[in-house]
Amino acid sequence: MSVAVDTRHWIGGERVASARTFPDRSPIDGSLLAEVARGGADEAKAAVAAAGEAFPGWAATSRDERARLLRRIADGVERRLSELAIVETTDNGALLRSHRNGVMPRVAHNFRFFADWLTGLGHDDFDTRGHTNHVSWDPAGPCVLITPWNAPLMLATWKVAPALAAGNTVILKPAEWSPLTASLLADIAAEAGLPPGVLNVVQGYGAEAGAALVAHPDVRRISFTGSVPTARTIAAAAAANLVPTSFELGGKSPLLVFADADLDLAVDLAVEQFDNAGQVCLAGTRLLVDAAIADEFTARLAARTAALRQGDPRDEATDVGPNIHPDHLARVDGFVRRALAAGGRVVAGGGPNTDLGGLYYRPTLLADLPSGAEALTEEIFGPVLTLQTFDTEDEAVALANGTRFGLAAVVVTGDPTRAARVTARLVAGTVWVNCFFVRDLRAPFGGARQSGIGREGGTWSFDFYCDIKNTVTAPKGWRDHG
Ligand code: NAD
Repeated sequence: MSVAVDTRHWIGGERVASARTFPDRSPIDGSLLAEVARGGADEAKAAVAAAGEAFPGWAATSRDERARLLRRIADGVERRLSELAIVETTDNGALLRSHRNGVMPRVAHNFRFFADWLTGLGHDDFDTRGHTNHVSWDPAGPCVLITPWNAPLMLATWKVAPALAAGNTVILKPAEWSPLTASLLADIAAEAGLPPGVLNVVQGYGAEAGAALVAHPDVRRISFTGSVPTARTIAAAAAANLVPTSFELGGKSPLLVFADADLDLAVDLAVEQFDNAGQVCLAGTRLLVDAAIADEFTARLAARTAALRQGDPRDEATDVGPNIHPDHLARVDGFVRRALAAGGRVVAGGGPNTDLGGLYYRPTLLADLPSGAEALTEEIFGPVLTLQTFDTEDEAVALANGTRFGLAAVVVTGDPTRAARVTARLVAGTVWVNCFFVRDLRAPFGGARQSGIGREGGTWSFDFYCDIKNTVTAPKGWRDHG
């Protein structure tokens, strides 16, 4: 497999090479896709300098013009949608049909949405004893945006679009396991006419390029999506310069199935948790099922799980593709082996797919795990779901809230009053009732507990990416300071 992507950095409107590169391999077959520029302290310094130089001009650009350019980027994404979809699938192994039909259209929407939101952003002026209070959302400066590999361009643009709309300049550091579409985004932004230095892309490893970027004293915002351990490291670096951070982190979300649920819907929703081979932060991987229906639910889910078609993510018929990397596959399998050693039982799957080889892991259901078992509390980030039962609503809520995470929760019930009672008690940034993954950019997005800090989406994004200022103006001739 080969891809036509320029994998050098994009700094100050130019392609910049590094002395070293790192290999980027496809999870589909392990083939070498590209040797990618391996940035470090020098590239981070150059990119922050370019972003700093471009900042005053971009911040002073009118909102209408910024919105126009963002919409042109959206047009560019749509024009190159097929290319973006195939490059992303080749690079991270998620299904081509979902990249083509869902993810890439959403990438374009990210730019259109924040362009539109920007033009409506504001607050009515108000009066204090004749003085006018005017609230403004001022651009903050260069922003470092660091993203993971599981939904690369989607998650990158969900940060890039509002940061640029707000009048900031950006340095994007994509994940080293899926670096390609960030490079294509730089091309698209340049073609759209974005001025040099407004968007910069630095490639490289987290501990090198990422660490140098988040430690740079001229950075004004850090938005990070990734794992909890990395967030701790970034938080420490950000603390040194007192830079505001927004963290979208891991999850161990519960999917609660009550006895009054539509069982067909509950099984459908459970099967959806295998999407992207389970590499979805929001996935409801802990199935909490009323004991009264647990046997029937489990039998039906096991049959559906076993019937999932696993294979090449470019094949339209495939349901579940490969995992991202050999190290990640070994990590996922390690969780399953330890779960079995702790007394867990395999209901479906349970190991690598030896028919396919490579990075394919069988969609797996685990049951009978002892309370507190690692597989019930730690994020596995692979196609592995656990089953637990409950007898009462209180018990269900206690199990649901019983981890250090709080990203999302799914509640399946036919009783609206139960839904209201239970959702009110769940600790989660997003709760879905009888549905999953319905996302709207107007809504706040983020996690409770160790699933994140802060919210992005709609005005919440602008609140993070802006310095909010209140300007109080006295009426003409006013002298009273009281
Ligand atoms: P990761 O934390 O290993 O890496 C994420 C990014 O951080 C990468 O670009 C990496 O290069 C960079 N990085 C690593 N060390 C760094 C450092 N010291 N300084 C600066 N940057 C550094 O996470 P991952 O394995 O790529 O992604 C999987 C994790 O992301 C899972 O925990 C998943 O739940 C989470 N995630 C969360 C959301 C959300 O919205 N909450 C969405 C997707 C993924």
